[in-house]
Amino acid sequence: MERLLLYLLKSPSLFCPSEGRQKYVPFTRHSSQTTLQIFRLSAAYRSRFYPIKEGGRILEFIYAGKEFKTLGGLTVGTATTHYYASKEFKAKQETTKSFTCSPQEVISGGDFGQSTYCHLILGLHFSTQVEFVASAFSYTIVQAFSFFQEVWREICADIKEGNLSSRITLPNMRKAVLALIRPNPSLASHIEEICLELESSLGWLGLIPKLWPNAKYISSIMTGSMLPYLKKLRHYAGGLPLVSADYGSTESWIGVNVDPHLPPEDVSFAVIPTFSYFEFIPLYRQQNHQDVSTDVDFVEEKPVPLSQVKLGQEYELVLTTFTGLYRYRLGDVVEVTGFYKGTPKLSFIYRRKLILTINIDKNTEKDLQRVVDKASQLLSRTTQAEVVDFTSHADVTARPGHYIIYWEIRGEAEDKALEECCREMDAGFVDHGYVVSRRMKSIGPLELRVVEGGTFGKVAEMCVGKCGGLNQFKTPRCTTNSVMLNILDDSTVKRFRSSAYD
Ligand code: AMP
Repeated sequence: MERLLLYLLKSPSLFCPSEGRQKYVPFTRHSSQTTLQIFRLSAAYRSRFYPIKEGGRILEFIYAGKEFKTLGGLTVGTATTHYYASKEFKAKQETTKSFTCSPQEVISGGDFGQSTYCHLILGLHFSTQVEFVASAFSYTIVQAFSFFQEVWREICADIKEGNLSSRITLPNMRKAVLALIRPNPSLASHIEEICLELESSLGWLGLIPKLWPNAKYISSIMTGSMLPYLKKLRHYAGGLPLVSADYGSTESWIGVNVDPHLPPEDVSFAVIPTFSYFEFIPLYRQQNHQDVSTDVDFVEEKPVPLSQVKLGQEYELVLTTFTGLYRYRLGDVVEVTGFYKGTPKLSFIYRRKLILTINIDKNTEKDLQRVVDKASQLLSRTTQAEVVDFTSHADVTARPGHYIIYWEIRGEAEDKALEECCREMDAGFVDHGYVVSRRMKSIGPLELRVVEGGTFGKVAEMCVGKCGGLNQFKTPRCTTNSVMLNILDDSTVKRFRSSAYD
């Protein structure tokens, strides 16, 4: 224990979301080393199916957040922030012989829009050398290219003149990018020609292979909560293979995609038994589960070790890690879909109890309940109104995606008070993934939609048929159900956008 403590004191640690509190999870050299190990492994598996040229470039949409020090002197930040700042990140580029297009100043700029613009301009500057396009989660690639649809003319003008738009205000980022680009009128007119065609007749279908003709594939996490972005990603990919990236968490890496040629919907991950000590809690779905509500629950059995998992069985993962976590429940539900050289292959089902997620943010029903409770107390204190019922929705169709919270209220409330409640809820989600994404503007301002009286009654009526009785009905605290969303949107009488991160 003493050795572990010393080691932790010398090493950075990081946040991890935990129902309303931010939680520190240890992150040590071992964590960066296993990251390097899994990236090398997965690059090797990918190259079996999609060989790439040594020394080529990756158009990588990657972003490092800010780090800070605790009073005790430990560095705190997200796992990716630590990794991009570590020597292992440089080592990964050297050993896999693939180099990211953007310099450190772009990766760690701390502003999503500015970094994305620079990733795009540099990706185009090196376009013929780009061997593949990547990001941590596919949400980011989709966001980046939908942003490109808006700014491509500006980017072309910059490439033509070797200049950088005034939207890039961060001095270090400007300097680093300007040092790399040169006026290139012929590249600019080539891009312009392609974009005009993509815009007018193709609806941006196949944008990636058209602009990066030597790209062999697209790689990022596409499973789990990223599945909703697949359609748009396929549209931009226009037939280019989509390679689903590996499975891991801040706490520990878990498994590698040994079948990179499979479509993301069929991907599973071979557990690397040396990354942590893995245990598995067998889960059995409750009979008569009401699917309208998202709080699926399971009957659990005693955990089994990796060597005793069964094909077709669902489990929750438990980790004992080299960084000091003992029998830590990750909350992920996985299914054993096969074995690879004796190690189980897991397909990711979903994160238990997680309801709101767009990008790297993770909020549970309890997190939502807590922010709504706080804001509704504020409403009761400042007005004659009260919250009657509520639900939420992660809107990923807008750019950037954002949370919508629907409130039905009783009594009179001034707009100013509701605006304040909206702000309070946005600021109330303390999950670090959410806070970082909001600060970097990769998630938009939270929206409060006030619906007219009786709306949740209509929602309940709609659900009765499916739930088998009103007395069993319980308002889903988050929904993607289109019928329910239609009822809520048709009944919306007021909308507010949070100013919490302005
Ligand atoms: P974090 O701790 O923020 O790094 O998030 C880790 C969580 O992201 C995991 O516990 C999963 O719920 C999810 N995740 C990570 N990798 C994948 C993957 N390849 N497919 C689906 N979900 C994933």
